[in-house]
Amino acid sequence: MASDHDHDHDNSLSETVLRVKALESLLVEKGLVDPAALDAMVDAYENKIGPRNGARVVARAWTDPAYKARLMADATAAIAELGYSGAQGEHMVVVENTPTVHNLVVCTLCSCYPWPVLGLPPVWYKSSAYRSRAVIDPRGVLRDFGITVPDEVAVRVRDSTAEIRYLVLPERPAGTESLGAEALEVLVTRDTMIGTAKVSAP
Ligand code: FE
Repeated sequence: MASDHDHDHDNSLSETVLRVKALESLLVEKGLVDPAALDAMVDAYENKIGPRNGARVVARAWTDPAYKARLMADATAAIAELGYSGAQGEHMVVVENTPTVHNLVVCTLCSCYPWPVLGLPPVWYKSSAYRSRAVIDPRGVLRDFGITVPDEVAVRVRDSTAEIRYLVLPERPAGTESLGAEALEVLVTRDTMIGTAKVSAP
């Protein structure tokens, strides 16, 4: 997308969707793109390239204190060390969930999201209900996702924009001390890196 933050409202968003669909139909009709190639690209971002990259970043941070320090200091560079960079991932900031702080990521204005580490955003992330309620009632949103954050734990809502793309470093669950990075990686789901889920021990 464009270099500036798209402050699209719902009407213009649906117009954008329609324009994209029209453009896709035209490109396919003219034989300029193969629909199977487009599907493969979407599948790659949603399932393959997608959140597994972020999970690798998290597992490395949990098991390598020096890497974690670099990640917290300059997330874009530390994430690029693992080979993940590119569109929608240029200005990464990692925020850490701890026993006293729970971070929740939203884009209140559209759907800014760190593609190189999380893939394509889920539909609910782009919904106006999530975008508005995350700010007004973050604890209520978290409850809807099945997380109860105790009153003494601060909830910080992080508003992603074109200037800053947030990734949550979730808490490493108790009982995983003996696990290595590869075993930890599979525990880290997409939602734990948005802040709408917690990582569970196996
Ligand atoms: Fe946005």
